[in-house]
Order: sequence, then structure tokens, then C-alpha cells
Amino acid sequence: MTKKTTPDRRTDKALWSTAYHEAGHAVAGWRLGIGLRKKGVTIVPDEAAGTAGSCTSRWASNRTIEWDASDKKRIRVENDVQSLLAGMIAQRRYAPRRRWRRGAFGDSRVIDDLLTRFTYDQKEIDAWVKLLRIRTQNLLSNPDVWRAVERLAAALIERRTIPGPEATEIMREGFYERLYSLHPEMREGQRGVDGKAESIQAQTPKRRGYHRDGHRRQCVTY
Ligand SMILES: [Zn+2]
Repeated sequence: MTKKTTPDRRTDKALWSTAYHEAGHAVAGWRLGIGLRKKGVTIVPDEAAGTAGSCTSRWASNRTIEWDASDKKRIRVENDVQSLLAGMIAQRRYAPRRRWRRGAFGDSRVIDDLLTRFTYDQKEIDAWVKLLRIRTQNLLSNPDVWRAVERLAAALIERRTIPGPEATEIMREGFYERLYSLHPEMREGQRGVDGKAESIQAQTPKRRGYHRDGHRRQCVTY
């Protein structure tokens, strides 16, 4: 019996860690105006890619696009970096005492790749990542934001894969839960305002000619 329960419990822990990791990417991205693509979020491992899960987003920055170092691009890249950092931060918030021996290697690699396009000075990159990490920690420590992460993580445990539009709805319901409970009459109005804002953001990459394909995040979460 013991032999059977031990691996099961471990699997369960690993699954929850992955669910929080991917939900962290998705929710931070959503709050920063990076929408999910139809493919959405999954905690189904991809052995060929070596991933425990993935979150397919509408990246502002992609390795394949023509590069420019404008202020506008820098801010979009910062948002992408925050969304990338949010995976590991959410995982650590979920299980703070666990010693994570393997981080999100794929995420770190993409972050370095993005920031080295602006500066080659490692000291500057380190300080920059530190600032963005603090910002992301503050973002995720907002109770409404964290509730959205919890809701999406729980839904991922139940369903394993959730398409983008449904995952966005789960995040939105979680985020506005407190507001709706205080002001039930705002439910429909808020959905309209939020939906409008998101549809504008979703069109942005197309309008501005950014690469439209989502970059698949390579998440190694345990
Ligand atoms: Zn990740």
C-alpha cells in the first residue's frame, strides 16, 4: 500500500505545481494585455518537447520577428518577461517550502534571449530581471490576481487542457469574484468593459504587423 501511495502523492504534487506554473503564466499575461491563443493552457506533458505543460500566448515579442529596440517594444518585452517569470513565482507561492532543484530552464533561456537584444551587460540584465521579478511578485500577491491563478490551476487539475477562450473566462471570473459578490449588478457591465478591452488587445499584434504565431513556452516545472 505504501509503495502505491507514495508515487501517487508525488505525481499529484507535481501536477499541482505544473498547474500553478502554467496558470501563473496565463494570468500574469492576461493582466498585462497578453491574451491566450486558442490552444490555451495544458498540464499534459510533452515528452518529445521535454515539457511538463505549456501556455500558448499572443507574444508581443518572438524570436522570428524583425527586431527593433524602440521604447514601445521594450515595454512589450518587459510584459512578456513578467509573464515568463510568473510561472516560477506562482509555483513558489503555491509551495514555498519546497526546494525547487530544477527551475524553469526554458523560461529563463527565453528571458535572457529577449533582454540581450537590448543590452549585453550582464549586470544590467540581472538588475532588470530583479526589478521585473519584484513587479511580478507584487502583481501575483494581489488577492484578486492570485484568486484567478488558483481558479485556473484547479480547473487545469480537473480538465488537464483548457482552450484559450475558456481559460480566459475562468481567469476573469476568479479575478472579479470579490467585485461581483459586493456588486452583483456589475457582473454584466464589467464583462462588457473587460471584453472590449481584451478584443482591442487581441487585435494589436495583427494591426501592427507582429508575428502572429504563439510561442510555445517550454516549461520544465519539476
Ligand atoms: Zn514556464
